[in-house]
Amino acid sequence: MTVAAVIDSLPQIDWITDPALVRLKSRDFFWYSPVLKRQLNGVTAEAVACPKDEAEIIAIMAACVKHQVPLTPRGAGTGNYGQAMPLKGGIVLDLMGLDRIVWTKPGVVRAQAGVKLIDLDAHTRREVRGELRFHPSTKRTASIGGFIAGGSSGIGSCTYGKLREFGNILGLRVITMEAEPRVLELRGTDIDKANHAYGTNGIITEVEMPLAPAWDWVDVLAGFPDTLSAARFAEALIASDGIAKKMAGVVAPGVAQTYFKMLQPYVPAGAACALVMVAEPFLELLKPLLDRFGGTELYRCETEKAETPLYEFTWNHTTLQALKVDRSLTYLQTLYPPPNHFALIEKMEKTFGDEVPLHLEFVRLNGVVTCFGLQLVRYTTEERLQQIIDIHEDAGCPVFNPHAFTLEEGGMKRIDSEQLDFKRIADPHGLLNPGKMLAWDDPDWTPERKRTFYLYGQADAP
Ligand code: FAD
Repeated sequence: MTVAAVIDSLPQIDWITDPALVRLKSRDFFWYSPVLKRQLNGVTAEAVACPKDEAEIIAIMAACVKHQVPLTPRGAGTGNYGQAMPLKGGIVLDLMGLDRIVWTKPGVVRAQAGVKLIDLDAHTRREVRGELRFHPSTKRTASIGGFIAGGSSGIGSCTYGKLREFGNILGLRVITMEAEPRVLELRGTDIDKANHAYGTNGIITEVEMPLAPAWDWVDVLAGFPDTLSAARFAEALIASDGIAKKMAGVVAPGVAQTYFKMLQPYVPAGAACALVMVAEPFLELLKPLLDRFGGTELYRCETEKAETPLYEFTWNHTTLQALKVDRSLTYLQTLYPPPNHFALIEKMEKTFGDEVPLHLEFVRLNGVVTCFGLQLVRYTTEERLQQIIDIHEDAGCPVFNPHAFTLEEGGMKRIDSEQLDFKRIADPHGLLNPGKMLAWDDPDWTPERKRTFYLYGQADAP
């Protein structure tokens, strides 16, 4: 492979070749995981291409195919699992230059992939009084293309579910990695071919997203005597279909007091907390709900006016806030399957105590209120981390391993044959973000083999 040949053939493209800058653009938030930090710290591309439009992307992709150079797409680089890290070197394709909103109608927006979520929301609020149905807690930095290719859910998922829920994405414009790249429009069930595929089987240049009504949201922090009371309140709020709400996160006693600097003055010692966003007209309904579960309102602020919105203490920002105070922490991602979720939460809290401080997020999945854990973990060794994962799984709490960089080992635990088949068509040379779709290298992989992959095709003991 010769990156230099690609650069030489495309002098009109804005290239970054300074090694320090290239290294910076070859990284994301993989360091949340001590395992990924060990595995991926040395990963870097040889150059970064910064296209301004789709024509430039097509030219870069065609040149990469001609010279057999790996190409790894990148939005804002806020992924947590090394998704945007170029395991085989080559070129990073920085898509933040595609920052144009294509059109907006009541209820729908079409935008280029590099538009920041915060800009997209501001635009649709202004133009059609609508907003994205949900966004990651990285709304202020992440891109819409990166969210679809690498994210899953977030603030608003308590009402609308995850990106995988049918109807949460209306269209994706995708460029194939062929000698003559094709432009495809994926719609309906075809969207899942490229949705959460880490950019392994096409470059997304445009997205079409349905919108939700844009309410004036209010952040409310509430205190409870224990984690379970806070969790029961969060579930009851999410199940209250008459109340417009956007978020219901819960943290165990000690978490807000120790790690949420801005909120510390409001939180009494020993209180578990619920962090919610409710539309202004429904605020008066919180009090009776809080009373039912022994809760007290501790803090309130209009989301738009907050210096740090409450959503930046939820989802994966909870971990970030904690890491700011204690760099030795890491985290897990689990499901507490209904209907036994409360029993499982109680069991896991008793089993691990302060080694795994609880952090829960409530989401509506296919119409069912569902509880996910993004627990903090006081990290000691990789062996203990694996034990903690095994104990959760043995108890019936599936773990979406945030300490793995392949699609299959992280979320899916299976080969997604639809995405693999699409890669065979859209990236026949296997040049797009190589090493992230395990099935491409090992079509017979099963989760039972408990094998994690280190870089391209090499096996690494768990
Ligand atoms: P990147 O990280 O740059 O890329 C993500 C993946 O998409 C990579 O595999 C990349 O190769 C690929 N990609 C990027 N752009 C394209 C494109 N145009 N075409 C094809 N492939 C592409 N995630 C959530 O789902 N919910 C959360 O609430 C959440 N909270 C977070 C909080 C923190 C503090 C951090 C650090 C991360 C969080 N994340 C969360 C993960 C991440 O921020 C989101 O998934 C985010 O939307 C990724 O967007 P990005 O622009 O940074 O993409």
